Amino acid sequence: MACIFCKIIKGEIPSLKLFESEKTLAFLDIGPLSRGHSLIIPKHHGAKLHDIPDDQLAEVLSVTKKIAVAQGVQDYNVLQNNGRIAHQEVDHVHFHLIPKPNETEGLGIEWTTKPADKGELQKLLEDIKSKM
Ligand code: 5GP
Ligand code: ZN
Repeated sequence: MACIFCKIIKGEIPSLKLFESEKTLAFLDIGPLSRGHSLIIPKHHGAKLHDIPDDQLAEVLSVTKKIAVAQGVQDYNVLQNNGRIAHQEVDHVHFHLIPKPNETEGLGIEWTTKPADKGELQKLLEDIKSKM
């Protein structure tokens, strides 16, 4: 398996591990956006969020919280990218925990919103709900 994060799980590639359990691994990112930038991953290999079993996902989120608390950060972003155009580089699901110590460090988000069409929103809602 060529997956770099599976190799980290197996110990074939070194990492700075913050937490490990049967289902989850957390380690420091080698290219941090800010001090303490961490990655929290399920041990189950899957490229995208919907490829991961619910029990693994649940633990990933609670470990993310544990690491945020341990770091004592007040402001931070949790980011999880799915797919190349959504900025995913490593095809093994990972949650970024990115401390935001000030306005300039950490994650910068350009968030260009526009008002929604109410009728369109209602149609969208019905479409999504009918498929759940
Ligand atoms: P993505 O763009 O896929 O959401 O983020 C991938 C992240 O993995 C990047 O922040 C990158 O710095 C990190 N990364 C890639 N390779 C390694 C590695 O070998 N070790 C560690 N610790 N982090 C890595
Ligand atoms: Zn993997």
